[in-house]
Amino acid sequence: MAFARSFSCEHCGVEVSLDAPGTTHRNHCPSCLWSRHLDRNVPGDRKADCSGGMEPIAVTVRGEGRWVLVHRCTNCGRLRLNKTAGDDNVLLLMRLAALPLTMPFVPFAADPGSNGISTSNGDSRVPPARKPRARKAKTS
Ligand SMILES: [Zn+2]
Ligand SMILES: [Zn+2]
Repeated sequence: MAFARSFSCEHCGVEVSLDAPGTTHRNHCPSCLWSRHLDRNVPGDRKADCSGGMEPIAVTVRGEGRWVLVHRCTNCGRLRLNKTAGDDNVLLLMRLAALPLTMPFVPFAADPGSNGISTSNGDSRVPPARKPRARKAKTS
């Protein structure tokens, strides 16, 4: 199956149509979400002389629920933001979004016994940490 305007993904080999729902400049593979470092300044200008493979490293949200992919060039390290397209691999997007939560740098649950606090008085209940609420008093 050939598209009028298409490219084949350097990463997974899938044939990708440039015309994608929800974006005017398709710049990443909907299947593996990898991109290529082709644009220098404006999406679609194709002026970069790097053409390194760009790895999808994160997703963020812009505006009202508009998902944006963060790509990092494996060749020069440049970061780029790319709008997701309507036919992007949703499962991969979700995995990217959840990735930091699978590897928290602080433990979610307190580990009794590891902090040296003795519970010998029989009270093992630890009061929940209270977040200080910064209440801004409006003066107007
Ligand atoms: Zn691909
Ligand atoms: Zn690059």
